[in-house]
Amino acid sequence: MGFAKIRGKLTPRIGYPVNFGAPKDVARTSGKAVSGTIIDEVWADPDLNKSEPHTTCEASSECWGDYSFCAQLIKWDHGEASIRLAYYRRGCGEDYWEYASQTTVNADWMTFSLCPKHASTEKH
Ligand SMILES: [Zn+2]
Repeated sequence: MGFAKIRGKLTPRIGYPVNFGAPKDVARTSGKAVSGTIIDEVWADPDLNKSEPHTTCEASSECWGDYSFCAQLIKWDHGEASIRLAYYRRGCGEDYWEYASQTTVNADWMTFSLCPKHASTEKH
């Protein structure tokens, strides 16, 4: 399954639908996909989203294009909310962005908040 191509600039994704298919083992036992909507987001580098595509690239065949990272707040149709970390990619020489985080981190905010808490108390 391909994702929609976002032509030109990488515009805000707020209001766009999100669908997560069930993991294969869950789907085998009649597990269903879940749907929701992006209701908020924050970008690591908003200027990158407005940048022009690579036309004449110095790195040529070694250029991996652009990667734009974000955190998105998703309101699920079943009523709960979660945060996913995601990125969108624009290939070198291409004029569109595409969602590229098919398997990504998705959890409630309390789970995310545990990571820095444990990192700061962990002994090395
Ligand atoms: Zn390039």
